[in-house]
Amino acid sequence: MIDRYSRQILFPGIGKEGQRKLGNSYIVIIGCGALGTIIATTLVRAGVGKVRIVDRDFIEYHNLQRQVLFDEEDIKNQLPKAIAAERHLKKVNSSIEIEGIVADVNYTNIEKLTSGADLILDGLDNLETRFLINDVSLKHKIPWVYGGAISSYGMTMSIIPGKTPCLQCAWTNSSGHGLALTCDTAGVIGPAPFIIGSLQSVEAMKILVGTGDINRDVIIIDVWQGTFNHLEISPRVECPSCQGKFEFLEARFGTRTTSLCGQNAVQVLNPRVKGVSFKELAARLKSAGEVSYNEFILNFTVDSREIVIFPDGRAIIKNTADESLARGLYAKYIGA
Ligand SMILES: [Zn+2]
Repeated sequence: MIDRYSRQILFPGIGKEGQRKLGNSYIVIIGCGALGTIIATTLVRAGVGKVRIVDRDFIEYHNLQRQVLFDEEDIKNQLPKAIAAERHLKKVNSSIEIEGIVADVNYTNIEKLTSGADLILDGLDNLETRFLINDVSLKHKIPWVYGGAISSYGMTMSIIPGKTPCLQCAWTNSSGHGLALTCDTAGVIGPAPFIIGSLQSVEAMKILVGTGDINRDVIIIDVWQGTFNHLEISPRVECPSCQGKFEFLEARFGTRTTSLCGQNAVQVLNPRVKGVSFKELAARLKSAGEVSYNEFILNFTVDSREIVIFPDGRAIIKNTADESLARGLYAKYIGA
C-alpha cells in the first residue's frame, strides 16, 4: 500500500501520517457528473478509505464529452452513473471501500446518506440541493466543499462549520451573482469542471489530512480567459443556516418536479410512492406502450415520450421541459 501512494507520501503536505488519515477517512460525493467524476477518480486514487457516490441519473452520450469515468459500454448497458462509477473505480483501487448509490438527494434522505461522513463533496448541478448540503453540514458539523462549473468558468469554496462562512453567507455577500450555475442554456467545456473538481479534491485532501490552509474565499476561474480570482466572503450574523435555522432541511414538499440540467427532461418525485416492482409495473404498462427493464431502470415509451423509472419510484420524463405535463404522465402511468 505504501508503494501505491509513494509519490503522494513524498509530498510534505501529506507524508505517511497524512496518508494514514486519508485511509481512515469517509467521504460522500453528491452528484457524479463532470465535477463528481473528477473528484471521485482523484480521491479514490489518493487512497481515501471509504468513498460513497450518490447520483440520481443514468448516462447519455452528451455526458461523455466531460464525465471522465464513463464510456460507451456504460450507455449500452443502461447503467446509472453511481453504479458505473463504482464499477470503474473498483478496478482502479481495490484496497478501499467504494459504494455507488442511485438516489435523488433530498430532505427526506440526505441526513441518512451523509451520516458519519468526514466530508461532503458537491458534484451537483442545482442550487436547491447545495443549500440542503449546507444545512446538513452545519447541523451535523460535517465540512463540505462547494463547486460549480458552466460554460468556461467555475467556482469553489470550502465550508467548515463554526470556522468559515457558509454557502448562504456567500450567497448574500455576492447577491447570488454567478452562484446559481446551471448548464441548461450556456453549455460547458470540459476543462472548467476538470479544474474546479481538482480544486475541490485538493481542498478535500487538506481538510482530511488537517494540514495546509483551507480556502476561505470563493475561488472563481475562467479557463478560456485564463483567469483565477478570489472573492473574499465575510460571515453573516443574520445567516439562518449559521444560526441553526435549517430551512432547506426542514422543508416539506408534495410531488416535486425538477427540470434537468441541459437535458430537455423533467424528474418527478412523489414521496408517497416508496418503491416500484419493475415486473408488476412492466406488466401493467405493456398494453400502453413499449417497456423494457433491467435491475436498475425501467424504460417506458408512450406517444413519443420516453419515461425512465427507478426502483425508488422516481421517474425522468424525457423530451419535455413541461413540468405539469411530466407530473400528469407520472400520475397516469406510475402513481398519484
Ligand atoms: Zn452562513
